[in-house]
Amino acid sequence: MFFKILFLLKILKFINWINVSGKKKKYPKVIQLPLTNKCNSKCVMCNVWKMSNSNEMTIDEFAKYMKDPLFKKVNSVGINGGEPSLIPNLEKYAEKILALPSIRSLNIISNGFNKNILKQIRSIYVLSKEKGVHFHVSISLDGYEDVHNKIRRIPNAFKKVTYVIDELHTNKEKYCDSLEVACTVMQQNVDYLIELDTYAKQKNYNMTYRLAVSNKRIGSEKIFSKYSVLAEEKCIQTAKEFFYTKYKQSQRVREKYKYFLIFHYLGFRIPKRLFACPWQDSGVTINARGELFYCAVESKMIGSLRHSIGKNIFFKDENIKYRQELIKNYCDHCIHYVFRPNRKSLLIILNNIFHEKYYPVWYKLKAKFL
Ligand code: SF4
Repeated sequence: MFFKILFLLKILKFINWINVSGKKKKYPKVIQLPLTNKCNSKCVMCNVWKMSNSNEMTIDEFAKYMKDPLFKKVNSVGINGGEPSLIPNLEKYAEKILALPSIRSLNIISNGFNKNILKQIRSIYVLSKEKGVHFHVSISLDGYEDVHNKIRRIPNAFKKVTYVIDELHTNKEKYCDSLEVACTVMQQNVDYLIELDTYAKQKNYNMTYRLAVSNKRIGSEKIFSKYSVLAEEKCIQTAKEFFYTKYKQSQRVREKYKYFLIFHYLGFRIPKRLFACPWQDSGVTINARGELFYCAVESKMIGSLRHSIGKNIFFKDENIKYRQELIKNYCDHCIHYVFRPNRKSLLIILNNIFHEKYYPVWYKLKAKFL
């Protein structure tokens, strides 16, 4: 009983109670930063490798943008791409990010094919430590051996990425404050997740799972039916079973809750979001050409830092109205960014705890008296 109460208290603390309409003009606290469209992978669930990478921001342009007053309250930045390790002077970009006045954490996502990422990560970690900024590294791994090779469509992809993961994992103190190995769940790997999970457990990786989603920034909405588990009834069932198992196995409350809500999301005919999203009112995406978006998933481009001050773009009345429409029309069905559950999720999780605990009793009573 004590543990159940503790679990509940942790959930109450973890929930995001605020309902966001997008109307408030708040300075962003998070930047999603795809620094390049260049990529050395050909993933089945992504089109970024087919996109143009011409005319991307130079380091001088980037340094100027990071001084824009719009970013004065940003405390967290996530670098991704494309593949960020293909930027030869990546450390210079990190240096400019670390000069933001309120920065507290820096994250990087990589496919880990390029061994050079180790050197880059190591240098960025030194810079982060000097600034007292938490540095988190996330490396993608979508399957064991050939499953990963086929998803990434790169020969020896699994061998390349596990070399980098193993080095980061074994010598973590040289590279980062926290390390995550992230799997994107899709049609191509949904039947092989147990294999991957077993491998990750043997290696003691901090493995996390999320659903492959439609994302305009990487053009994946155009190929949705080719990878999404939501497009195939039998894949939905397998994914549900997997996420339910993860929910039951997870020890950490946040992780447990997250997997349960993904499981629940998969059960809707029209899926419904049960997580808050920082990009609804406190995040911004800047692409490799300095263009701004409210979020990467659904937002249209709202302006370019090459032509205007970020603050004027982000808070423009016309754009704020557009953000409200976006939240009203799209967010409810989006499963990207599953960090903090929203208040709607509380009844669902409580109902599930109650159901799991008392259903056998109710069943016995029904069998006896009805
Ligand atoms: S569409 Fe998705 S990512 Fe974009 S603001 Fe809404 S919930 Fe967040």
